[in-house]
Amino acid sequence: DTIGRNLDRAVAAWPERDALVDMPTGRRWTYGEFGAAVAELARGFLGSGVGKGDRVGIWAVNCAEWVLVQYATARIGAIMVNINPAYRAHELDFVLKQAGISVLVASRSHKSSDYRALVEQVRPGCPELRAVHYIGDDSWDRLVDAGQRVTDAELAAHEAGLSCDDPINIQYTSGTTGFPKGATLSHHNILNNGYWVGRTVGYTEQDRICLPVPFYHCFGMVMGNLGATSHGACVVIPAASFDPVATLRAVERERCTSLYGVPTMFIAELNLPDFASYDLSSLRTGIMAGSPCPVEVMKRVVAEMHMAEVSICYGMTETSPVSTQTRRDDDLERRTGTVGRVLPHIEVKVVDPATGVTLPRGASGELCTRGYSVMLGYWDEPERTSEVIDAGRWMHTGDLAVMRDDGYVQIVGRIKDMIIRGGENIYPREIEEFLYGHPKISDVQVVGAPDERYGEVPLACVILREPTDVLTLDDLRAYCEGQLAHYKIPARLRIVDSFPMTVSGKVRKIELRERYGPQG
Ligand code: ATP
Ligand code: MG
Repeated sequence: DTIGRNLDRAVAAWPERDALVDMPTGRRWTYGEFGAAVAELARGFLGSGVGKGDRVGIWAVNCAEWVLVQYATARIGAIMVNINPAYRAHELDFVLKQAGISVLVASRSHKSSDYRALVEQVRPGCPELRAVHYIGDDSWDRLVDAGQRVTDAELAAHEAGLSCDDPINIQYTSGTTGFPKGATLSHHNILNNGYWVGRTVGYTEQDRICLPVPFYHCFGMVMGNLGATSHGACVVIPAASFDPVATLRAVERERCTSLYGVPTMFIAELNLPDFASYDLSSLRTGIMAGSPCPVEVMKRVVAEMHMAEVSICYGMTETSPVSTQTRRDDDLERRTGTVGRVLPHIEVKVVDPATGVTLPRGASGELCTRGYSVMLGYWDEPERTSEVIDAGRWMHTGDLAVMRDDGYVQIVGRIKDMIIRGGENIYPREIEEFLYGHPKISDVQVVGAPDERYGEVPLACVILREPTDVLTLDDLRAYCEGQLAHYKIPARLRIVDSFPMTVSGKVRKIELRERYGPQG
């Protein structure tokens, strides 16, 4: 169905339950209040001339208004375009033009980002952009006030003309492997995906979900917001952008039952010096996704954060996003060694990337997915769309995977990250997993570095536990000797302070490769 009608059902079923809590401002909404606020804003968009199919950009850090805009635009069939809060003028200009955005909702500022100044800088060159509303000032109030010109009956009549297959959202991919692509998604795509992800975690109206992940990304807005409302759960926003202290504090104060994050976020929380002082006993579950989770981290998440049922999801922006997910009673092996089983109504197959022939269980190849979750296409880029979605509607993920006999899927790595050393295929994850066990290593990424003799060799980029520690390449190689096949043992080592990250919390290996590869 449409997101608007689905929200109506949630409001009718759980009017008194909490829907949304915004910790930084202390505001909270029950489902009844939330439904009314969404309708008010939806009338505001209609009253200011936004209609079905118009592109509304949202360029904001996490806040309650983000969620209201998400539901209000869907309610009137406008296409919300999620814009990465880390973007700067040039990238904003690109998205505004590429998506043909006519109305933009933006944060005024956050930390060192002056969003208003950046918008004003690019605005003269974007004639299609006719209105900008900044959250928390008069221009936001004017948007809401415009709704007074529109009656509930007019809103309902407008909604009657919407179909669940209409495009309502353009989400850009993380940009981990190159420039982000805009995936165009329908109500049907993301509403169903949020529903199934939430159902697999086992959400009910008793659940309270702490979301430190950015809303601009599918992890926050689909698996978080849509996953919650389909089951009457409450969304708790701990902070405008990821902050490990605010996150744990929010879990404690709001007695959250579920916590989301990419592995690097959980690592940051577990590494807080006062980690043990937070009462996290209300947690039962959560979702970890986006990149592989080291076994040691998973063990601590289960034992020390009480998240015995933590769920691993695998997916991509282009598939709404989740394709496979672990189940509540899966053991540690399945939670760390696999990304779960395929969700209902989705098909997967593993193919030889060169020939497209389907491989048997146990063999590694490119993962392809098909079903309701596959995007409509990349916005205004039919050629790039046909590079990834074939004539049979299979989405080619670019990820290497194995389908096990028990139906669980293992992600081996990205085709683009694979290191080929003298004809030998090396998957960085396997080496990283092993190096995590080294007592001096806090975090590690392995990438391919150019090499005259072998073409490429593994380069380990390491963050040390203690900045005063000393770790040499010889130490590292001695540690791997006899444990890893000789060709997988890092040939180069680079000690770094941090990794270049995307806003969704993924390490940009491409940047590590470019930065450190040539000099080793
Ligand atoms: P871009 O396509 O712009 O390079 P991206 O692929 O990182 O960026 P997303 O759509 O946010 O953009 O992420 C999808 C990718 O994340 C998947 O293709 C896969 O490589 C990786 N991924 C997602 N979940 C998992 C997981 N649980 N384990 C391992 N990798 C994962
Ligand atoms: Mg991708």
